[in-house]
Amino acid sequence: MERFVVPADAQSWVEVSADSHFPIQNLPFGAGFHMEDDSDDPRIVECVRIGDFALDLAVLAEEGLLDFEPSFIPLGWVSFDGPEGMSALRRQVYELLISDRSKLRDRTDLREQALIPIDQLTMTLPLQPRAFVDFYSGINHASNVGKMFRPDMAPLLPNYRHLPVGYNGRASSVMPSGEPVIRPNGQQKIGDDIVFGPTRELDFELELGYYVGAENMMGEPIPIDEAESHILGCVLANDWSARDVQRWEYQPLGPFLAKSFATSISPWLVTLDALEPFRIEGMAQDPQPLPYLRNPGPSHFDIELEVWVKTPRMERPQLICRSNTKHLYWSIAQQLAHQASNGTPIEVGDLYATGTISGESEDSYGSLLELTWRGQKPITLESGETRTFLEDGDVVILTGYAQGPGYRVGFGECRAEVLPAMPMG
Ligand code: CA
Repeated sequence: MERFVVPADAQSWVEVSADSHFPIQNLPFGAGFHMEDDSDDPRIVECVRIGDFALDLAVLAEEGLLDFEPSFIPLGWVSFDGPEGMSALRRQVYELLISDRSKLRDRTDLREQALIPIDQLTMTLPLQPRAFVDFYSGINHASNVGKMFRPDMAPLLPNYRHLPVGYNGRASSVMPSGEPVIRPNGQQKIGDDIVFGPTRELDFELELGYYVGAENMMGEPIPIDEAESHILGCVLANDWSARDVQRWEYQPLGPFLAKSFATSISPWLVTLDALEPFRIEGMAQDPQPLPYLRNPGPSHFDIELEVWVKTPRMERPQLICRSNTKHLYWSIAQQLAHQASNGTPIEVGDLYATGTISGESEDSYGSLLELTWRGQKPITLESGETRTFLEDGDVVILTGYAQGPGYRVGFGECRAEVLPAMPMG
């Protein structure tokens, strides 16, 4: 499909600071609750982010400035024609926001109604996913976990470089940034004892997520050169993990309860159109993938990723990891082509995540499991506290952006605080 790329030198009449994640080159989609009144039933705003404002699409549609049918549910983005429809809508929004266009700029009353200061919205999921699939495509993470969990074997299992390993997760526990994560209870093996209780090894995972916006028919695979045209856009994903539960339960069928209690995502759906200028070749793949998995061209993206942590005793968050999506072995196109290769239908609203994205250096690992090397090397925070895994009250913030010439296309934050475990029933 044709991509609409906003020129690097384009400016909006809405003021946007140089380090904002949301200049006119981005224009991501989202949905938020408007806290304008005290009613029990706050209005849902389907919007596009520009600088520190959310542009209310329904207001503009009502005025005839946008060809868009508001749905007032967070599945709104699929009420028009999938990724292509979203791309066309984003282009219409661009035409309203570019500095030399006056249709909205010069209508003070309408502008005030349509541009909502972002702090007046509580963002929710851009779409309520119907399915969640998690891959394992960060090769440094997979290799590190192999070294820790299976020290007597080669770090990567024999299939790793032949197919994107993944599993079907739970869509019901995907939650928007800002909602707290409750420490899960689970079964663990401590010494020779098998116990059930709150995880002692709660961890985050730094991942890129993406939503599907176009289906395939049952039995019909998706050719890899068409895979990206099924993707609506990307988010940041924190795939929370309970490592002690994981270690005990994962063989032979893979992750189950250690991962399914929560996944947090950032609220803004960043389109592949906006990420197009940051397209790069991935790392060399050896052996060459089978034909159905061969990338048709550069299929990776250069997105800087960060993880910040704040404990209750800290005044501000501290950076503990800096990574990049270029460390993915398998591209998102390869992941989606592989998922559909057996003919399973992928559905509009499905959420996919790449797997933990760790870099090569010790300060670029995308989980505490790796950063503290299974708890053997605690990290010391600026407050003097140490951490192996997360404690109650800790806040984890993922953020990320692609750096262009003079502008950034970013994701904002994916943030959550850890709450104590529920009493065991
Ligand atoms: Ca994961």
